[in-house]
Amino acid sequence: MFQRFFILFAILVLVSCSKDAKIIHFSGKTMGVITYNVKYAEHPNVTKDFAISKVEDVLKAVNKSMSTWDKSSELSLINSSKVSKWYQLSPNLYDVIETAQSISKATSGAFDITVGPAVNLWGFGPDGERKVPERSSVLAALKKIGYKNISLDPVAKSLLKAIPNLYIDLSAIAKGYAVDRVGHALESMGISDYMVEIGGEVRTRGYKSGNTSWKIGIQSPIEKDGSSIKVINISGMSIATSGNYRNFFKSGGKLFSHTIDPTTGHPVDHKLISASVIHNNCMTADAMATALMVLGPTAGKSFVESNGIMAFLIYEEDGKVKTYTSEKFEQYEN
Ligand code: ADP
Ligand code: MG
Repeated sequence: MFQRFFILFAILVLVSCSKDAKIIHFSGKTMGVITYNVKYAEHPNVTKDFAISKVEDVLKAVNKSMSTWDKSSELSLINSSKVSKWYQLSPNLYDVIETAQSISKATSGAFDITVGPAVNLWGFGPDGERKVPERSSVLAALKKIGYKNISLDPVAKSLLKAIPNLYIDLSAIAKGYAVDRVGHALESMGISDYMVEIGGEVRTRGYKSGNTSWKIGIQSPIEKDGSSIKVINISGMSIATSGNYRNFFKSGGKLFSHTIDPTTGHPVDHKLISASVIHNNCMTADAMATALMVLGPTAGKSFVESNGIMAFLIYEEDGKVKTYTSEKFEQYEN
């Protein structure tokens, strides 16, 4: 979410399915340059225009609350207020931050929404240039990072910044959240067979036709023709992918990815190329995919195994591209 730069190719490609299903499809742009796609089985009481306007409303609302690109968003106002105090949050923003915090705990801080100062320093935030920063700047950014600097009050739905210049970046979770919210909007219109995709993060419910599941292709990071490295069949589940080849810059022959290790303040430096996670909700899948990209191939794989995560990893080993499919992910393979 919230990336200024055009994502060259969506990591997940939507693979067409049965020919006779009456599927309504529309797409558009959100969060700046990110493409979204909505497909659903035609519903007698819902016109396409109505569905489009509802979806657009949801996307605008999520952006207005959680974007760090929009300087007047609810989140941006909290980020720019350099005061250590309790902030009242809208219920939706509270829920996303609460989920983010639980994923931080589960991943021992690999996932950390307070990583924003380092994200911005390397030029992956709304401002600044993509370049290797001074070491002193990284050390200064590190002092502002740590999910434990956030306290939440579940009753008041408020957030305490333990340090005044805490800066929250929801880019690794808000896209998935937006997908879920669009899904809920469709459900509230009575639509129960749908697929929503925003910038590669997907949520499905029901079927494309009859009992044919939605087919989602995970795009190969190696092939230039956009072909899928794996195709999965899902119904009632979501899938999100994070990859180091999606948003990066090169300097001195080295690749610097937009995934930041919160312990070093540097882009991750390991052999994991991408991580895809299947989960009931897209928000959790999105955050978990980013967390695995921080953990890397070895720690990521053991985390997946010990927590029964449905994950598909693409990594490099001995100069070759290899894949790992967790046991629970296999049931969705084509
Ligand atoms: P994409 O936007 O390509 O789907 P992600 O979901 O992995 O990718 O989100 C990456 C974004 O998350 C980065 O651009 C940055 O803003 C933010 N981020 C980077 N490192 C972390 C981290 N360790 N924890 C949480 N968010 C992160
Ligand atoms: Mg993510």
